Amino acid sequence: MHDARRSGGGVPAIGAGPRIGATDVPSMVPSPVPAVNPVARPAPRPLAFGARSSASLDPLPDRMPKQEDTPLMRQWREAKARHSDALVFFRVGDFYEMFYEDAEEGSRLLGLTLTSRNNGGAADVPLAGIPARARDDYLQRLVRLGRRVAVCEQVEDPADAKDIVRREVVETITPGATLADALLQERRNNWLVALAAGDGESALAAVDVSTGEFVGTRVPDFRLEAEIARFEPAEILLPRAMEGQGRFETTPTYRPDWLFDPELGADELRRHFSLHTLDGLGFQDGDDALIGALGALLAYVREVQPPCADILRRPRIERAGDAMALDEMTRRNLELVTPLRADAPPGAAATLIEVIDETVTAMGGRLLRRWLLRPLVAPEPLWDRQDAVAELVENATLRRALRAELKQVRDLERLSAKAGAGRVTPRELAALGLSLARIPPLLDTLADAQATLVTGLRDGMDPAADVRDLIGSALAEDPPALLADGGVIRTGFDAELDDLRATRDGARDFIASLQARERDRTGISSLKVGFNKVFGYYLEVTRTNLERVPPEYRRKQTLANAERYVTDELDEWEAKVLGAEDRIAALETRLFGELRRRVAAELPRLLETAAAIATLDVLAGLARLAERRDYVRPDVHTGFELEIRGGRHPVVETMMPREEFIPNDTALGHDARVMILTGPNMAGKSTLLRQVGLIQLLAQIGSFVPATAARIPVADRIFTRVGASDNLVRGQSTFMVEMSETASILHGATERSLVLLDEIGRGTATYDGVSIAWAVTEHLHERTGAKTVFATHYHELTQLADLLPALVNFNVAVKETGDDIVFLRRLEPGGADRSYGIQVGRLAGLPEPVVARAREILAELEGTHTMHGEGLGRRGARRPRSTAPPDQLSFFGAPAHPVVERLQKLEVERLTPLEALNLLAALKKDVEG
Ligand code: ADP
Ligand code: MG
Repeated sequence: MHDARRSGGGVPAIGAGPRIGATDVPSMVPSPVPAVNPVARPAPRPLAFGARSSASLDPLPDRMPKQEDTPLMRQWREAKARHSDALVFFRVGDFYEMFYEDAEEGSRLLGLTLTSRNNGGAADVPLAGIPARARDDYLQRLVRLGRRVAVCEQVEDPADAKDIVRREVVETITPGATLADALLQERRNNWLVALAAGDGESALAAVDVSTGEFVGTRVPDFRLEAEIARFEPAEILLPRAMEGQGRFETTPTYRPDWLFDPELGADELRRHFSLHTLDGLGFQDGDDALIGALGALLAYVREVQPPCADILRRPRIERAGDAMALDEMTRRNLELVTPLRADAPPGAAATLIEVIDETVTAMGGRLLRRWLLRPLVAPEPLWDRQDAVAELVENATLRRALRAELKQVRDLERLSAKAGAGRVTPRELAALGLSLARIPPLLDTLADAQATLVTGLRDGMDPAADVRDLIGSALAEDPPALLADGGVIRTGFDAELDDLRATRDGARDFIASLQARERDRTGISSLKVGFNKVFGYYLEVTRTNLERVPPEYRRKQTLANAERYVTDELDEWEAKVLGAEDRIAALETRLFGELRRRVAAELPRLLETAAAIATLDVLAGLARLAERRDYVRPDVHTGFELEIRGGRHPVVETMMPREEFIPNDTALGHDARVMILTGPNMAGKSTLLRQVGLIQLLAQIGSFVPATAARIPVADRIFTRVGASDNLVRGQSTFMVEMSETASILHGATERSLVLLDEIGRGTATYDGVSIAWAVTEHLHERTGAKTVFATHYHELTQLADLLPALVNFNVAVKETGDDIVFLRRLEPGGADRSYGIQVGRLAGLPEPVVARAREILAELEGTHTMHGEGLGRRGARRPRSTAPPDQLSFFGAPAHPVVERLQKLEVERLTPLEALNLLAALKKDVEG
């Protein structure tokens, strides 16, 4: 435990610190703000805790009857009542204080010392505080822990306060609505999602206040989870009525139901975007719930982060059918953005996004992630993307020049949003200006580009030269991070500022010149003029020269070896310097605020430009990827046939030297819709299966694919079911999860879907497992018609090829050399005739006797195993309905009893009588079990 207060530094005396200016730039807010109007302040009372100075405090709270609350405590209670779901950071002077239960929770979560105030016998008030300047650190930690924090600030100048300073909650920090760099990830949107229930469907609205994006969509309920998953929300807003329903990975925030009311939402949207009607926003009949969700989200953002509401763009309505819904299962199983195994080796790319992200701006990185999680289903926009990527692949000069320029562009999107919300620092605004300055040369590189997507972006892009010039003319060359540091505005921008600076510099120069003059006058050659923060300017004389100090010198400070003095003249000039500095600070603050507002007024244009740059970055990045890793342009078509030649797994291939990954051909079509993939463990089945899924997906974001040639039909959905993804966190057994995932595939898949099944039925007994796998395969083949790859260790399933016309067997080949097997990683037609489990077990180091014994048992099982060889429905049973699973799967028919085996092996003549007796006893025990 540490006491944050201890690092808080000195607390200034009342009235000594600078005051909150009329500025909207928080970085300008000076830290020590005296909280109390000195005149109205009651006499200090003894405090029972720590080394805190009482100077910055209002009278502190007691746990007393309400009517006896101090005014400060009344303020706190009001704030807390309105923000009961949040911790309240209550500004008192240099600190944010937490009281009562907030103090208890806050001190526990943050490791702060919990103090309490005991005021002459009254009950204690638990209290914990943090220094105001460390606020962002603590906020971040609390939000990461899933807490909300309402920040209650002093909103009036203490000098104007009649009694105690007025305080208000100015923002609530939540995971979903934040501009804080520390809570954001550069290459990832930070979505806040709201849901509203409609009729058999839900409405989903999402906003990223760090980029101004605002979208809405309607989703049938069965696809809701998938739709939520694609946003990877930081926070989900739900009507209270939905409490307890649904399971979300993100902790939900509940709001009153009426906030989701469609009429209220319509008002909210009209008012916010200053519209007479909502006609221009693209709503359709039945969008009521959607309007409700959008309105609720807007109201919420305004409530928790008022400045952020200003930067929201008009909502973009996405209609189902534009995009492939990528459910959470698939997102996880294909490891698109998060690795399945948390213990993946550090450094090695484990996810698809890590491999394919070659973008050079954060905006591009975010857009690529959005593309990846929202593959398209219409071919035309995909072809456009492909054309652009193709041109950038072929024209290496163009690609390199473009990427070199893109590298110079900072995060225009988030910088603009910060400017829009009034949260931009001088240095960030300068970065925005410099980024804009890169746009003309960037567009120049595209002069000869041909692809329509690229030329469209080039010709449509607004370089915002006026904004660039404005920033360039107003801001100093290399402005400081904080406005308070001064020197933010460029010389020549404002005449008054230039005058004030000249006055200040002139006065400083004069003071400096005093040193030479006073040395002459007094004859003290070591006399010095100096400055110190507490005492201001002084004349310093060493002890040995004291007798020569003139009488008009007034002593101000005594040091060990010297005395420091002031004179009337020095005071006068010092006043000039300080007066000018105050006015300079005020003027710079005002000018910067104006500049910021003028930039903010151009926000929609800036965000458009940022979006265009992000798109160029993604296209150029995909081209670089294709070139770097040898991807080809797939023929994306609207037919049925899928054909991949020389396909590779985009992630696995990066984990080994280039030649080591063995490419494979895959074809699925009308005649071969369902592929049963067999082969021993570790052969490469799962890799192949995922490879097909990833290539399909890459094709549907417009990317090239890891293959030598590919024809990819547009899929409406990709379904994956991969073993061992245990959802234990949700409290379901693995087998239950497996079955429910399988169920949702069978319900959702159409003939345009790609279904990837890896090991179904493994989580239960063998008979159950084979039976379920068998029935699922039949269903997919007969009813669904989806292209399916089914990797299974049940080689019994290969017999389905005789019964189902569009089912084909493939296996990942292994070579047997004596007792061992070698993995060839090659896909071959035909089923594996056995599982090679014993060989793999041997490779894995099972003890030799166990291996030998397993072989024996296997041999006996195979002798009685009716599914193998001739057993099942072979006699021309073309009618699939009759492919009932066999009823006599006697896996464990009649292996010799272990006791019998031991007796057979026994060499009786070599036993001593005692051994014989012991053995007999042991055998009897075995038989009795
Ligand atoms: P299975 O699902 O059949 O048990 P996996 O697909 O998990 O096997 O593959 C096991 C390992 O084999 C993978 O981790 C990978 O390292 C390697 N592997 C798979 N396919 C290939 C391939 N085509 N070329 C090279 N190595 C591969
Ligand atoms: Mg596998």
